[in-house]
Amino acid sequence: MIIRARTVVTMDGAPIDNGAVAVSDDRIDDVGKFDEITSRNAGEIIDLGEQALLPGLINAHCHLDYTCLRGKIPPQKSFADWIRAINTEKANLSAKDYLASINDGFAEAKRFGTTTIANPTAFPGLIPKISAPIRTWWFAELIDVRAPDRAGEIVELAIESLKSAHNWGLAPHALFTASKKLYRRCEEIARRNDILLTTHLAESLEETEMFRDASGPLYEFLKSIGRPMNDCGSKTPLARFLDLIGRGGSPNRPRAIEVNRPYLPWIVAHLNELIESDFDSLERSETRFHVVHSPRSHDYFKHSPFPFEKLRALGFNICLGTDSLASNENLSLFAEMRAFQKEFPSVPPEEVLQMVTVNPARALRQENALGRIQRGCRADLISIPCSGTDEVFAEIIAFEEAVDWILLNGKEKRNTPHAAKLAK
Ligand SMILES: [Zn+2]
Repeated sequence: MIIRARTVVTMDGAPIDNGAVAVSDDRIDDVGKFDEITSRNAGEIIDLGEQALLPGLINAHCHLDYTCLRGKIPPQKSFADWIRAINTEKANLSAKDYLASINDGFAEAKRFGTTTIANPTAFPGLIPKISAPIRTWWFAELIDVRAPDRAGEIVELAIESLKSAHNWGLAPHALFTASKKLYRRCEEIARRNDILLTTHLAESLEETEMFRDASGPLYEFLKSIGRPMNDCGSKTPLARFLDLIGRGGSPNRPRAIEVNRPYLPWIVAHLNELIESDFDSLERSETRFHVVHSPRSHDYFKHSPFPFEKLRALGFNICLGTDSLASNENLSLFAEMRAFQKEFPSVPPEEVLQMVTVNPARALRQENALGRIQRGCRADLISIPCSGTDEVFAEIIAFEEAVDWILLNGKEKRNTPHAAKLAK
């Protein structure tokens, strides 16, 4: 099959005007000017017309579990209050509700042109019951705050369910809900099975207050539910995390330890609240994990400004994610890109698009398979209208509709009845 479009945005060099992509089965075979592609390849030609063809978008952090909580939780006075509010909502939900919520979320993400999603779920037991319509990295979100002695057991149980998924990983929820033992166990398993790891880190100021000062609403809340608080009152969340993953950045750390325990490339959500000493630690530790920023969820919680420039200057791979609809209004990565642009207007649109294509592909260790249009990559493509100006990246980010045309794993999908009519 040969797909022609006004512009092919490969994310691997300049966009190609009057371009085409040759696809066989689930892979991209060739990409270039329409004339070149038709001279080198045979097959049915699909002409998308005045459209930009680009890689399917990748959501680097989402919780489809909570799609049904859209609009249910107004912004709260504190992060701890938000946790209380979501827990109250969750108490009314059954497994059936969560199943519907996850399926609705998948449909919505796909409607907005997302073809790959990194999705921590608090209910890994539901995974075998779900047929994901897009490429999914399922992470089991693990919490042992009420049962720190059962860390090993909690991980083992989750893995049993995760094994039914094609792509999976582990997600100790956050330093304030998952024990050191749980993090360590997840790292051990990741080393053994070559799987991905993700977690939430330094999301709120209250998390910093809790770990550094042993005070604040989050500290009080977790103490009240019986969390052992003896890890609080000294280090920032980031410093604790670096210690935990063996990258505390001590200048005297023997090199051999680093060699024996090469650090794992965690996908870290948030990193909103870092202090000066945290940046020093990051610089010293040379740890370069992947970072996911969720601009609209960030805005909902009114966190401190995301330190994008500093993290970028330190060489971090920065991706965008929607987070869940308990703190966001929809699952559109286009809207997420627009929110990011509002925060950081000087960042070029092409770089913003990288944060939902090539960057998350790298975080998922799929840099040669996803996020770009290149020979050998998976045939995950989307197409949106374009006017043929030089501002194709800006036009893509400004796109506000549902995505009509999607190619997923080499299979054509139409999202709306309108598109189906056009196809005839
Ligand atoms: Zn999250």
